Amino acid sequence: MEPYPETRLLITGTEINYLFICPTKLWYFAHGVTMEQESEWVDLGRFLHEQRYANEEKEVQIGSIKIDFIRKGDIIEVHEVKLGKSMDKAHEMQALYYLHYLKRLGITAKAILNYPKLRETKELTLDGREKEVEEAINGVERIKTLPKPPEPVKTGKCKKCAYYELCWV
Ligand code: SF4
Repeated sequence: MEPYPETRLLITGTEINYLFICPTKLWYFAHGVTMEQESEWVDLGRFLHEQRYANEEKEVQIGSIKIDFIRKGDIIEVHEVKLGKSMDKAHEMQALYYLHYLKRLGITAKAILNYPKLRETKELTLDGREKEVEEAINGVERIKTLPKPPEPVKTGKCKKCAYYELCWV
């Protein structure tokens, strides 16, 4: 395996996720701009995470990635817990990025997206998806190095976004 540029191992799963939600949001987040959290969703997410998965080894930090929980078996399972599927592309790419990251560290794993409110799960592997992940990493690096945030584009996602006031008020 070729040496891997260290800067690419500093990218977080949240940054990959935000790339697919909104580049403006990614830029603010990556530049340390913090706003009041979307409390209702954060509280609900925390409740589901803590109650539903109480017995799991949670919030596993490996370098720059923080995995919701991990199950060890024949193959390591990387689990992400999400509330709904409206941003499923972002969820998927976040999980694939974790698999890519672990692979760079010599760990083979598969990812499971958990949607407990919907009682659904989705299993993902890196097979055939490496190029997509590489492109996402390039995308995050490009947005992060912009001198100012990309022009906001109003979408249905803005209503629940912590940066709403920065973009639209
Ligand atoms: S309010 Fe909308 S445009 Fe602004 S950062 Fe959030 S999602 Fe992006």
